[in-house]
Amino acid sequence: ESVPVFTLLDRAAERFPKRKAIRFNNYSITYQELHRQSEVMAANLRAHGLRPGDRISIMMPNLPQTIISYWAVLKAGAVAVMTNPLYMEKELVHHIHDSGSRMMITLDVLWSKVAQLGDKITLDKIFVSSVADGLAFPLNQIVRLKVWKEGKGKVPYDDGKVLRWSELLHGRDRFSYAGIMPKTDLALLQYTGGTTGVSKGCMITHYNLVANAAQCSAILHSIGNQQETFLAVMPFFHIYGLTTCLNFPTALGATTVPFARFVPQDVLKTIDKIKPTIFPGAPSVYIALMQQREFENTDFQGLRYCISGSAPMPVEVMQQFKERTGSDIIEGYGLTEASPVTHLNPLRGTRKSGSIGLPFPDTEARIVDMEVAGPPLPPGKHGELIMRGPQIMAGYWNRPDETASALRNGWLFTGDIATMDEEGYFFIVDRKKDLIISGGYNIYPREIDEVLYEHPKVKEAVTVGIPHKTRGEVVKAYVIPKDGETIDKAEIIAFCKKKLAGYKVPRQVEFRTELPKTLVGKVLRRALREEEAQKES
Ligand code: ATP
Repeated sequence: ESVPVFTLLDRAAERFPKRKAIRFNNYSITYQELHRQSEVMAANLRAHGLRPGDRISIMMPNLPQTIISYWAVLKAGAVAVMTNPLYMEKELVHHIHDSGSRMMITLDVLWSKVAQLGDKITLDKIFVSSVADGLAFPLNQIVRLKVWKEGKGKVPYDDGKVLRWSELLHGRDRFSYAGIMPKTDLALLQYTGGTTGVSKGCMITHYNLVANAAQCSAILHSIGNQQETFLAVMPFFHIYGLTTCLNFPTALGATTVPFARFVPQDVLKTIDKIKPTIFPGAPSVYIALMQQREFENTDFQGLRYCISGSAPMPVEVMQQFKERTGSDIIEGYGLTEASPVTHLNPLRGTRKSGSIGLPFPDTEARIVDMEVAGPPLPPGKHGELIMRGPQIMAGYWNRPDETASALRNGWLFTGDIATMDEEGYFFIVDRKKDLIISGGYNIYPREIDEVLYEHPKVKEAVTVGIPHKTRGEVVKAYVIPKDGETIDKAEIIAFCKKKLAGYKVPRQVEFRTELPKTLVGKVLRRALREEEAQKES
């Protein structure tokens, strides 16, 4: 449907005016009120010079302020650049420069981060929300945010450029930009996670976002049947969190419960107390929850289902979660370039473990040869996953070469190696860039990771290819033992030998207490490979 994405909010406000849109500790807001506040804020942003098509960075964790700001920016006709508040200087400068953001919305506790950029960035206006904005900001969450502790610097509100966010909520004028062309106008400039290289801005249109929310609804729900409550642990600054924890719930008229930071004990307490019904997460999230002592005593009865995306879900973890909570984790797949969801296992009907499920409605998916993108390969063959559908981005911002290689004749080339079975279920094998080539054999590191996860003493594991004189590359495993356990290298290797062909068995094993991850919890194989390369030189 070709409408601006804020139509989701307009409709929820019309159909379910009194329903809670957001619940955040003691704070809550109805759809009617959220709608009103976002239109007032849109009018004020316009009065401050924000024009249609302008980019504006929203650098906030998941908070009510983030949601109000997001809708307001879209209603003003501008493009939201969701910015990770954990970015360090270099990433932040890249992000603001590359997107050409003119304005920013952020929090006072993040101020020192903005201030330290000094002349490296130019922003016309910065709107700063304060902990004292009355949105019941929970102190415990702030205290736990290490980076925020540094943010005590005083915000220079009187310099004409830095303004109070709360003032944007005052006034009578309301605004909702009517000139949007949903299929071509951008709603987001959404940066990829940077797992495999430099983070690129994906041009996501209004139409893309509406389509993806509608596809989620079509597969999972009929709108408005039941009042759902979503646990919004996944960050809104990542497209997975934005679509599944904000746009999708808005399409359903559901309540969203944002978490400023993922603190496992707090999440378990909330599950116990307010009984959310839907919980989109990622493998690392479910793994962390299951590690908590409180997990056993948490009441999961209210939970209808969980959705896992953004990284491969170890089958073992999914089964344990089901055994211990009674709730299913439905695995799906997506990428920033596709707003992001393209595949999901069915809620009702056959779910295959280890599979990302079936393509969404209106989404065509194919497996093609990795070298020559020819006709679709038959079931069972490995190749690159390509897709076409209404949720596929318009291209990368200011990167014509990368756009041309990712988007060919309307097909998105994902860079993921996958296969499809006879029944049309898709399986991600690995990322093209992570493939290990050892003595002429292709090794998919994920297959080895899965085996390592089966070991009863392993908490987390990842494998990469490291340079080797004669074989080109060999497999190295990085293993985090479960708390209180010790394992030795020989034990890991013997375990793998029982389950894997010889050439796939790790030659090196390193035990760690932590793995390098992206800010959304994906293991950075790239960083591990770089460490090895440095050792070599
Ligand atoms: P960059 O593209 O900049 O390297 P990134 O990979 O973190 O960063 P995202 O768009 O956040 O960018 O992630 C998309 C990728 O996540 C997919 O291409 C795929 O490799 C991986 N992924 C998502 N869901 C799954 C899944 N269920 N199983 C396996 N891999 C998945």
